[in-house]
Amino acid sequence: MKAIQKTSRARGASYRDAEVPVINKDELLIRVTAASISPGDLAIYNHAGPGFATPTLPFIFGQEFCGEVVEIGALAKGFDKGDFVSVESHIFCGVCGQCRNDQRHICQNLRVIGRDVPGGLAEYAAVPARCAWKHTDDSLKDVAAIMPPFGSSVHAVLAEDIVGRTVLISGGAPQGLFASGIAKAGGAKRVIALDPSDYRRKLAVKMGADTAIDPSSGDCLAKIIRVCGPEGVDAVIEMSGGAKAISLGLKALRPGGRFVAFGLPVANLSLDYAGDIVKRGIRLEGVAGREIFRSWYKMESLLKSGAVNPGPAVTHTFPFKDFKKAFALINSKEKKCGKIILMP
Ligand code: ZN
Repeated sequence: MKAIQKTSRARGASYRDAEVPVINKDELLIRVTAASISPGDLAIYNHAGPGFATPTLPFIFGQEFCGEVVEIGALAKGFDKGDFVSVESHIFCGVCGQCRNDQRHICQNLRVIGRDVPGGLAEYAAVPARCAWKHTDDSLKDVAAIMPPFGSSVHAVLAEDIVGRTVLISGGAPQGLFASGIAKAGGAKRVIALDPSDYRRKLAVKMGADTAIDPSSGDCLAKIIRVCGPEGVDAVIEMSGGAKAISLGLKALRPGGRFVAFGLPVANLSLDYAGDIVKRGIRLEGVAGREIFRSWYKMESLLKSGAVNPGPAVTHTFPFKDFKKAFALINSKEKKCGKIILMP
């Protein structure tokens, strides 16, 4: 088969031949029909950045994908050949304290498909059956590859009731774009999106944000306050990981509000911990990944009902062989892209 592989400890990757994976008894062999590029994939491609890991080379990466079940391990129950599945990239152990307390997404023994084991930027991928989400029909076929990141945004936005709330979504990369649509569908009174890219601010509005503001403009906090009122926003969904954006988000949040920490900073932060968090009663919540599989049920409902249309956030599709064009777009200064799909 052909696969996009990391072949050296430097920026870039190669599209070249690989062996079709041999599945274990608890695994499925998936014929990949579409993959999308995740922040983790970008870090591996760039050999730098948040989430960067050093796999054993050569390594097939790719954390977000979907496809058809073509082979089933002897212990993999509940699937038939021809089933169409999306893949939960987090391989949970099922027996640790978190797994036994319904927190599989932060399993103590977590491994990530496409980071710790070979991933889906390939014609075929082996995945544990417990990580496969079976689609009951073809209605989500076009968005099945993006379900993992969409689910993370569902988790981040809807972990708490947001009906009637003002929500600030910081960061207009695909997770933030999805979050704008999800917040609106979740009943938010007002959704304010922040991103320095004019292109991505326009996408945020298409996804449902009421207002999109350039955080690099000098009076950004004043602009946010003009939209949400002097008390500040009820919730901040911080998806950029930028130090300035995190500080701005904390200052825009009303006392007692909820700050969702999702974006990954590249370095440790310096915060006014006492003034911005403790004394203002801020509720700080780290969100990593999706709740397995609670978030999946929620996103299936949001997508199938049409409550959220992720379409505007998915801006480009390339064949696998043109993967370099896709990564160049994401790495470009202008960031004139949302989610990018790669197809075998
Ligand atoms: Zn576990």
